[in-house]
Amino acid sequence: MRIKIENLNKIYKGGSYALNNLNLEIPNGMFGLLGPNGAGKSTLMRILVTLMKPSSGRVLVNGMDLAKHRREIRSMLGYLPQDFSFFSKLKTYEFLDYAARLAGMKNSAKRRTAVEQMLEEVGLFEARDRNANKLSGGMKRRLGIAQALINDPKIIIVDEPTTGLDPEERIRFRNLLSTISTRDVIIILSTHIVGDISSTCDNMALLNKGKLAFAGSPGELVKEAEGNVWLIKATEKEYLEINEKYPVISTIPVDGGWEVQVVAGDINGYYGEQIRPNLEHAYVHFMENRLNQWSNV
Ligand code: ADP
Repeated sequence: MRIKIENLNKIYKGGSYALNNLNLEIPNGMFGLLGPNGAGKSTLMRILVTLMKPSSGRVLVNGMDLAKHRREIRSMLGYLPQDFSFFSKLKTYEFLDYAARLAGMKNSAKRRTAVEQMLEEVGLFEARDRNANKLSGGMKRRLGIAQALINDPKIIIVDEPTTGLDPEERIRFRNLLSTISTRDVIIILSTHIVGDISSTCDNMALLNKGKLAFAGSPGELVKEAEGNVWLIKATEKEYLEINEKYPVISTIPVDGGWEVQVVAGDINGYYGEQIRPNLEHAYVHFMENRLNQWSNV
């Protein structure tokens, strides 16, 4: 599978660009779409799932133009929106069966098998007779992914994947998606939380104010931050200064002061050492430096 986004623009009423000449290729595997609130992620997702049309530009799915092959491409899609919820009193398996029917699975015997397999896959088989709206947050999210996957989609789009999940459920959810990503599919995770991207994504893009700020692997983004992350040993007084001067990533109390991780090119006389960046450092580095430089141009 391959998605190619060409010169995509979306201008809402009022005239501001939610997407501004976006060019991006999304290959097989897990793809992270990262950006702060308002970056244009949901707009892009809505265009990809054919809920909205772009103002100009085009999206190609395996070479097929989304605007001309809507129905065909729609049948390849599975979508888990951020605000996925249940308004019905259906049981868990009934809900999934309903979703399968909506997805066009007409044969009831095949549907039954597919529903049972999917319930097993997302770990909800035991809960199949429970009312869907009575499931826990994590279980609802898994039922959400089950309905997105029931039709064996080739493109799976998940908006804000870990919203409302506790840490244990986050890991389960991430593992479930990783298992699926080994198939011939594209999984797009759209999020403003760096931790949702992490090492699970093969490729990623950083969106800011409707523009593509970075595209590549998470490792490449991390590389850009090398030499720009410091662990400073600070006194109480220094810590307050540092907090004013630099983006602080984390703070740990130690004997006589604090160990403070900051993103900066130089720490100008404070006592500290460089440390290896992770994706969170890299994201902050990128937003602080590259984007500020650009906006000053
Ligand atoms: P994200 O999902 O990254 O938070 P969005 O795609 O929701 O970003 O929004 C991108 C920009 O478009 C924001 O400035 C937002 O205010 C604007 N926007 C989003 N939806 C609409 C809409 N329906 N009408 C007008 N402006 C919108």
